[in-house]
Amino acid sequence: MHELRLQGIAKDYGRVTAVTDVDLAVPAGKLVCFLGPSGCGKTTLLRIIAGLESPTKGQLLLDGRDVTPVPTHQRNFGMVFQSLALFDHLTVGENIAYALRIRGADKATQRKRAEELLALVQLPGVADRHVSQLSGGQRQRVAIARALAIDPRLFLLDEPLSALDAKLREAMQIELRQLQQRLGVTTILVTHDQREAMTMADIIVVMGKGRIQQSGAPLEIYRRPANAFVADFIGTGNLLPVRVDGGTLRLGDTVLTASEGLGGLASGAGATLLVRPEEVQLRPAGEAGPNRVAGTVDFVRDVGNSVEVYVDCAGTRLVAAAARKDLPPIAAGQSITVELPPESCVVLAA
Ligand code: ATP
Repeated sequence: MHELRLQGIAKDYGRVTAVTDVDLAVPAGKLVCFLGPSGCGKTTLLRIIAGLESPTKGQLLLDGRDVTPVPTHQRNFGMVFQSLALFDHLTVGENIAYALRIRGADKATQRKRAEELLALVQLPGVADRHVSQLSGGQRQRVAIARALAIDPRLFLLDEPLSALDAKLREAMQIELRQLQQRLGVTTILVTHDQREAMTMADIIVVMGKGRIQQSGAPLEIYRRPANAFVADFIGTGNLLPVRVDGGTLRLGDTVLTASEGLGGLASGAGATLLVRPEEVQLRPAGEAGPNRVAGTVDFVRDVGNSVEVYVDCAGTRLVAAAARKDLPPIAAGQSITVELPPESCVVLAA
């Protein structure tokens, strides 16, 4: 198992700064996700780690040793890209054993290793087929097996599942995560899909505008995002514009209390209040109480096992989510009361 450290990494392309001020530890054996919107610099950062780009500033330390000047082919990292980049003129087995052949392994060793890896990615018996004869999901597995053939010191994946349909992608997320845990290989995965990151990562690194906005365990980031950008990107959230008023918050005319996050904010300052949909409580119209706002149901999205209720509260739209069995029948147009429990209110500086 190997540990990677990034210290002060920056990359400029002419006048474009793709990434800047990146300090990060990727612990041995863990899976770290770079998550962020298009153009935030996640692929650039992965390519720097892979040695396909050199940083304008900063260092990469693998187990404490500076590998910044080491060329790609000497890093011994396994890579899977969105395009997969499989060789269509070779068989599955030849694709997987390609790096071993380059390194001078004999035919029997190549064959044995290819078969081992095909068993590992649950695709036995296809070594002699051509990759063009495989389905999208099977090709994905071959690309993963090929990247693992060299027993890589780091396993680097750039949106490897994004070409798959939703159902297969979700299944592959679990399979890939289980494989990574079984092998204990230190892995970095680039994705723009927050659900994929939440499913697979030990640590999520949320990137925005070329910088790390926050890094931490998935649930820590979900529950305590560092700013509104992270809160918005990671999961659906109600982000409400509020004003600090002493030790309370004002949402329009409604006074709200939050359990934490108000420290350090001056009275009169603007802030953003985050309340996750599953924390919002729906009450009968007119039921008074603290942290309650009157509203009108705007839309009900019923997807079978769960229901999302959109509520218009004097021009502010809120969404509440619950399991169907926990909700009474609700229809658009009805009056309702929304409760934002203080312990679920996260205050983010504007
Ligand atoms: P996506 O999810 O769309 O792939 P990303 O988060 O991976 O986006 P990058 O591809 O790393 O983002 O790009 C970060 C920024 O650097 C963008 O503004 C991009 O236009 C710029 N950039 C990336 N590669 C180059 C290059 N070779 N030359 C010039 N600018 C580049």
